[in-house]
Amino acid sequence: MASSTLKAVRGTRDLLPDQTPLWNRVEATARAVFARYGFGEIRTPVFESTELFARGVGEETDIVSKEMFTWEDRARAASEKAQNLTLRPENTAGVVRAYIEHKLGETGALQKLFYIGPQFRRERPQRGRYRQFWQIGAEVIGPQSSGAESALRDAEILEMLATMLDELGIRGWKLELNSVGNADDRTCYNAALREALQPVKHLMCEDNQRRADLNPLRVLDSKDENDQEIINNLPKIADYLGEESRVHFEQVRAALDACGVPYTINPRLVRGLDYYTRTTFEFTVTTGLGTQNALLGGGRYDGLSEMLGGPRAPGIGFAIGEDRLILTLQAQAEADAAAEGKTLEAPKLDAYVAPLGTAQNPAALKLAHDLRAAGLTVEVGDGSFKLRKSFDNADKVARAIVLVGEDEVANDVFTVKNFAQGEQVKIARAELSTKLR
Ligand code: AMP
Repeated sequence: MASSTLKAVRGTRDLLPDQTPLWNRVEATARAVFARYGFGEIRTPVFESTELFARGVGEETDIVSKEMFTWEDRARAASEKAQNLTLRPENTAGVVRAYIEHKLGETGALQKLFYIGPQFRRERPQRGRYRQFWQIGAEVIGPQSSGAESALRDAEILEMLATMLDELGIRGWKLELNSVGNADDRTCYNAALREALQPVKHLMCEDNQRRADLNPLRVLDSKDENDQEIINNLPKIADYLGEESRVHFEQVRAALDACGVPYTINPRLVRGLDYYTRTTFEFTVTTGLGTQNALLGGGRYDGLSEMLGGPRAPGIGFAIGEDRLILTLQAQAEADAAAEGKTLEAPKLDAYVAPLGTAQNPAALKLAHDLRAAGLTVEVGDGSFKLRKSFDNADKVARAIVLVGEDEVANDVFTVKNFAQGEQVKIARAELSTKLR
């Protein structure tokens, strides 16, 4: 039987070496910014009990109701119970679980935690939407006395994100901001939505009809084109905010104004997860993402720890879609290169060491070792290659070729050609690393 070729699963992809340098640069920049703002890294498991997400993210959300990769893990011993497990669709629930499990709140100090890692959702794959995707995220959480509830924390997170996107070189980002109120405000608002939806819901799509009864707030997330007019005419959350939520939102805005972070208010921004309270936000971009233009999202979740059986621990966090960040940076770089009439080229190595004959392989490898030890980036060829092939290989990957023949080794003087300058020169071993650099 002929075997068919195996491919990466739909919605997953390989990141090859021509792409990973950009991923690493993005992650290094994010880590540097997190460090300046006092965040420490947390790594939680890639799978958790299904119940964590059902309770934390919400049964009625798209994520939990249709997008999770879940399986029943059978018991391997009489002492074990079969349990339902899920590949994490997001990381906030896992971080808050860890916060509770390790009693991080007991020190009384504010916890500032960041993570970088893959998440899994069974979505319809398209540009900027995958079934395995990466998020760079952070959470600020602590007991009441740590000041975790302060509007200053919301503003600090948003100001840090603005700084991070600027340092990454993301241009033209927009911050959309809203407040979805506290639990009491939401109860009133949900009731008002339910009432307003009653006479019109039969005109809406099936999903929205269901949401109108079960979780009317989710109707605001709907992208269904026919339903947009109805949705835009629904009551606005701003009119249902109690005093406490209203003051908090004003304080967030005042601090953002003081830091010069621009934003617009989007009254429909309720975000697709049930745990949000008060501040919600999204950063969007105009380049590279098409309709999936949300680069990152987040918000406050003052009740999440208690929903998961933990102590009261107000918090706020966000998740950047790293895949989308990368798509944006690539699109920007391509646009820049096109504007200058150039094409994008992979960075080249400092040198390609070419042995002239297999007898010179050991000497070539030793020379490559010495140059690498001096900090140069070096590839080494093989003495079985014809001279023409060595030059072709070298020209593709390196800025210069160093020939290692019998005479060169005997005299410790090497023939070097720099491809940009064109001429061939002789350089003594002692000067080689300096000249190549
Ligand atoms: P969420 O966890 O849904 O609040 O999403 C936060 C960010 O993660 C979004 O703004 C996207 O940039 C990114 N994201 C969410 N789902 C996907 C996906 N399926 N593929 C790629 N990026 C995603």
